[in-house]
Amino acid sequence: MSDGVNPFESLQEQIDDAGAFIDIDDDVLARLKQPERVLETNLSVEMDDGSIETFTAFRSQFNGDRGPYKGGIRYHPNVTRDEVKALSGWMVYKCATVGIPFGGGKGGIIIDPSEYSESELERITRSFARELRPMIGEDLDIPAPDVNTGQREMNWIKDTYETLENTTEPGVITGKDISSGGSEGRVEATGRSTVVAAREAFDYLDKDLDGATVAVQGYGNAGWIAAKLIDEMGASVVAVSDSSGGIYNAEGFDPVAAKDHKNETGSVVGFGDADEELTNDELLTLDVDLLIPAALENAIDESIARDIKADVISEAANGPITPQGDAVLENKDVIVVPDILANAGGVTVSYFEWVQNRQRFYWSEERVNEQLDEIIVDSFDTLIEAYEDHDLPSLRVAAYVVSIQRVATAFEEGGVWP
Ligand code: GLU
Repeated sequence: MSDGVNPFESLQEQIDDAGAFIDIDDDVLARLKQPERVLETNLSVEMDDGSIETFTAFRSQFNGDRGPYKGGIRYHPNVTRDEVKALSGWMVYKCATVGIPFGGGKGGIIIDPSEYSESELERITRSFARELRPMIGEDLDIPAPDVNTGQREMNWIKDTYETLENTTEPGVITGKDISSGGSEGRVEATGRSTVVAAREAFDYLDKDLDGATVAVQGYGNAGWIAAKLIDEMGASVVAVSDSSGGIYNAEGFDPVAAKDHKNETGSVVGFGDADEELTNDELLTLDVDLLIPAALENAIDESIARDIKADVISEAANGPITPQGDAVLENKDVIVVPDILANAGGVTVSYFEWVQNRQRFYWSEERVNEQLDEIIVDSFDTLIEAYEDHDLPSLRVAAYVVSIQRVATAFEEGGVWP
């Protein structure tokens, strides 16, 4: 993995790569490469032992031309201002790729949550929610879960916001628990779209998913659900990994049992049905039919890309392939379904959650999954059309060509004022 690559520079490079294929004013393209604003705040929070700790946190609102800013909040020790800016930009082009009426935003706190108690995490989260209060709202900016945050944190943010505003406004945040106004299918949505996108790519290549071998890097929410769903579709999960390392069994194994092992021991490593150990880099270069990177940015750099043997890569993580890695893969026989389509299920079902919150009318899980499937399939077809009609170098470039045009149109129709 390439720690040196700045994800914000990667985002800007991706926009430039696609810009070369679009008839767009340079000034407009330059505008679409920068966030509108970034909040940087230092949260002082009382710890259980009475001491006070200060945490740096960010919220980047990248673009709101197509609708309210939308995107998750991540808790990770390596969060940086530039990472949050990049992630917020990826949200803009993700929402535009799948055609849902949101702009893009992202937040993060520099913290290793595993070192704090639940009550400390609650105070840290509520403190961040208090700072965010003036800039969020169901028509303004709608946070959601991301790395190391989930329903619990979303429920706390909703409660803090509603208490301070003296109102009920469940649509201020998505990814909530069902009893707090969450949607059926939201927890599974990111993993689900990743495998639906992979299914479409296999179909496009006339390849059989039944019996296909799959490796999944990262076993958090997106990775483990993707493994479970692809197994249910008849593929064979042969390798998975987390930050402690990877496990392999050429015959395949049950991804749910591997998850149970991780829940019990803290890692997939040591799982009895896949006792061959391998590193994350070894997993990424396995000779499999489908590779699902589901961890963090920059997992696949130029040198790993050279050794990639998978036929299809479906990106569950945001930004797992560096632009240099992409350049290598473009010249190989591998089809990459880009993050801004493959993992867009999360924000798509967040959109469904927000619609349900506003209507106070809740959908069945079946309806959520059906409508999600339809949006991912239609968006995939749109990218393929752009890719073939304009002879574009990759599906990533196709996704940016389609989404930049959508954002640019909204920007230009609004005009610049004053
Ligand atoms: N954090 C997720 C993403 O990167 C979901 C964002 C959302 O639901 O707003 O797409």
